Amino acid sequence: METTAPDSKTNIMEKWSKRPLLIAGPCSAETEEQMVTTAKQIAAINQVDILRAGIWKPRTRPGSFEGVGAKGLPWLQQAKKETGLLTAVEVATGKQVYDALHFDVDVLWIGARTTVNPFSVQEVADALRGVDVPVLIKNPINPDIDLWTGAVERVSKAGIKNIGLIHRGFSSYGNTEFRNAPMWHLAIEMKRRNPEMLMINDPSHICGRRDILQEVAQKAIDLDFDGLMIESHMMPDSAWSDAAQQITPAELDVLLEGIIWRKEDISSEEFHQVLERLRQQINNLDDELLLLLANRMVIAERIGAYKKENNITILQTRRWNEILEKAVAKGVKYGLSQDFIVKYLDAVHMESINHQNKIFNS
Ligand code: PEP
Ligand code: MN
Repeated sequence: METTAPDSKTNIMEKWSKRPLLIAGPCSAETEEQMVTTAKQIAAINQVDILRAGIWKPRTRPGSFEGVGAKGLPWLQQAKKETGLLTAVEVATGKQVYDALHFDVDVLWIGARTTVNPFSVQEVADALRGVDVPVLIKNPINPDIDLWTGAVERVSKAGIKNIGLIHRGFSSYGNTEFRNAPMWHLAIEMKRRNPEMLMINDPSHICGRRDILQEVAQKAIDLDFDGLMIESHMMPDSAWSDAAQQITPAELDVLLEGIIWRKEDISSEEFHQVLERLRQQINNLDDELLLLLANRMVIAERIGAYKKENNITILQTRRWNEILEKAVAKGVKYGLSQDFIVKYLDAVHMESINHQNKIFNS
């Protein structure tokens, strides 16, 4: 199959606005044979827009496979030539930007371990000055939305017009079911702040394993993400990096076919009226909740004044434990999750203490 892309510059701008935008390919380019065969298999499922591959791999521990380096770039070029797929590569230094562009890579991405480091992001941004290439920016490994925003600003100030975001989850200590906790609220907040920017979900690095890729990808689509980046390898089990999370192109096909692609909006009048009524109910309840919370704080201040008169401490640990236990039991009965109730009560309690402190210090 020789379907050379006639003009990959125009092609990439068409792809950039396609929804959903689908990016797939191996975690790492390993050999020319692995790269080209994987690319052909991916092209054959006819769903993927951009072929990804790691050429330089930032690894947590030294001694693991650190990528084939620039010698892998011609393999990607060959894969593009044979399949017509556009290509995307991770870059972390100025030299990597030059090398990737020299070999006609169509999209560059900044990895999670680079986004955390303003020096590195600035170096990449400086190398991008005067270049017209779309850049995707992964979230930093730690849950810091300002660091993510900072990377976007650096790349944008370098003159890059087409910037997209990739949500790949956040590193957290201890074992969870995910390799990187999704912390969806951070991606949603980033999307809220940058509504015009493409937001792609990377379930592979969130999950770290194959069996839950489908549900995470579906959740991203349900949350109105613009596309997916999924690692796919011709022989996942023998991949040189991230073997446990990669799937074959055939499995990728099944996964993508299984996704229910929901629309953000439909035009039916009745649908909008029903939605509007339900939203109004939510707004009213939110108003009531705020008022109730404000009233609760007024009482907390009264208690604060009373405690001050009687010279006792603000925090009575036993009383607080009692409140927490009762509320968790009640909330769970009402169908709220324990995790939510504890977080909610902690926040309310902190606010109460702050109000009481105000009285103590007045
Ligand atoms: C990758 O995409 O292979 C990669 C290294 O991802 P991240 O930067 O999200 O860890
Ligand atoms: Mn990977």
